[in-house]
Amino acid sequence: MLHTVKAYYFFALLFISCAAKPPRETGNFKPTDLVEIITLDSTIKLDIRYATSNNFVGRPVYQEARAFLQRPAAEALVKINASLRPLGYGLLVFDGYRPWSVTKLFWDITTEENKKFVADPKKGSRHNRGCAVDLSLYELSTGKEVTMTGIYDEMSERSFPDYKGGTAQQRKLRDLLREKMELNGFTVYPYEWWHYDFNGWQQYRISNIQFSEIR
Ligand SMILES: [Zn+2]
Repeated sequence: MLHTVKAYYFFALLFISCAAKPPRETGNFKPTDLVEIITLDSTIKLDIRYATSNNFVGRPVYQEARAFLQRPAAEALVKINASLRPLGYGLLVFDGYRPWSVTKLFWDITTEENKKFVADPKKGSRHNRGCAVDLSLYELSTGKEVTMTGIYDEMSERSFPDYKGGTAQQRKLRDLLREKMELNGFTVYPYEWWHYDFNGWQQYRISNIQFSEIR
């Protein structure tokens, strides 16, 4: 019964978010140029959690397991991935561009105390601008995701990029990812070790197009 109520609640919120309109933005913006990351470098791995039930919502919110970014941000990831290779690691992407309707759904579904982990749809997310990426590292030798200080999308202090707990190896890998990202134009979000904004994100508009519409 509880499951039925939750499903009803989810689909009601999904309907509301799909019908809602993103905020109107005025000013000069660069043209949106979303590119599918793996078309630039097929050794960047994907684990698109939002296309599965393995995410904080507990249900798929994407129809397709794909990841896009504005071209300069995607090109920066290719450079970062190459710089990690000699160290035995590669990039593992959880999410990139996110249609605004999904940000609205996340906001509506999240409790007040956890709202710092999600973006306010009135302002839009940097993911909506194609300038934010959620990612971790994988080991080249095994192809497996490394263990960080906390898990992706965990809503706890273990997600903070300066969290002092965890093992020395976990902190080392988290800090290695951060060093490479910062060297190539990204800034870490202070509450999430996996979330990076591409510098200059303000120059791109909020988008609400679906993955299937991107070409
Ligand atoms: Zn993110």
